[in-house]
Amino acid sequence: MKAGIVLPAAGIASAHSFSAFAKTPSSAAYRVLGKTGLKVSTVGSGVGIEPDPQVIARAIDLGVNYFDTARGYGNGDSERITGAALKGKRNRVILATKTDGRTRDAIFKDMDESLKALNTDYVDIWHLHSRDTPDTITDEAVEACELLKKQGKTRFIGVSTHDVHAVTDRILSIGKFDVVQTTYSYAIGSAPLRQQAIARLYAEGIGMVAMKVIIAVAGFIPRDVNLPKEGPLAAIKWVLLNPAISTTVPYVKNIAELEMNVRAMNETYTPQDEKMLYTRSEEIRPLYCRMCYECKGICPKGMPVTDELRFLAYNDFGGDFHQAQESFRRLPKEIREIRCSDCSSCTIQCPNGVDVRNRLIRAQELLA
Ligand code: SF4
Ligand code: SF4
Repeated sequence: MKAGIVLPAAGIASAHSFSAFAKTPSSAAYRVLGKTGLKVSTVGSGVGIEPDPQVIARAIDLGVNYFDTARGYGNGDSERITGAALKGKRNRVILATKTDGRTRDAIFKDMDESLKALNTDYVDIWHLHSRDTPDTITDEAVEACELLKKQGKTRFIGVSTHDVHAVTDRILSIGKFDVVQTTYSYAIGSAPLRQQAIARLYAEGIGMVAMKVIIAVAGFIPRDVNLPKEGPLAAIKWVLLNPAISTTVPYVKNIAELEMNVRAMNETYTPQDEKMLYTRSEEIRPLYCRMCYECKGICPKGMPVTDELRFLAYNDFGGDFHQAQESFRRLPKEIREIRCSDCSSCTIQCPNGVDVRNRLIRAQELLA
């Protein structure tokens, strides 16, 4: 694939304007997922920790054909419920799941358990899950994924990451991956390093999947703000302005949300959308970590600031307390025991205006 398309660096968070984008119509409802050649619906489904079978069935009826889950979601419940909901419809969908396994044996074990839970004999995309630094994409893990591909247990292999810039060189130097899934939304997408990383991967034929596309607009804080009803729709349309992104995997809680989101497959991004997203971006400025990974300073206690802020966002902006708590509980014990309230001030500064110490205090009070 020859692309070479780089979105303008302008964005809500940096330039406060999308005028360059506003005239761009959304493209067709389906796009090709890089070198996989798979034709995917631009609005897919992140089924989440507790999928609703009725939402899955309705999504298929509405033309959604891309479904994303993970071995670790709900200790396998997510895959089990998804597998049951897809019974008799498996050949109509593209199914992606992910492994947290770090060794060859753990990855093989996860694959066998995923296939059983999903009630299928193959997945379409098998991701290494949550690989945010180059050293987490080990040669051993890559070899295991390649072998699973040769065995026909997965058609394609990928990497899921929150920090795409950090792992792009590693992914391209390995040269084996077909797909990359990463965080991308109006609230975080304007970071130039993220834009450049996505453009580089796309130019090399990697199929790009965007996750956490609506999280900052679908949440519940600040509490005194009336969230725009069609905020998630506008947020998905914003993501699809980037032609490098083939599909999105928003999590939806009910059929009404789903029916609104799928309109992004055919509707145009408008100046009203731009205004709505800009307003929301400013409302959440002290509260929402944009995952730009540009924090200044180092925590002397070793706090993984962006991870803990992301877990809090699952609750505060995604309305998903279980995912927030499950993620927090996977942190090492010594990290879970850090209390930012014991610090009189924080050594971490956020150029985007996040009130880091107070957000971390809230995360620890809520999730520990
Ligand atoms: S805390 Fe601020 S600087 Fe750090 S990743 Fe989040 S938004 Fe970026
Ligand atoms: S408040 Fe203290 S413990 Fe918490 S991140 Fe800042 S420096 Fe680290």
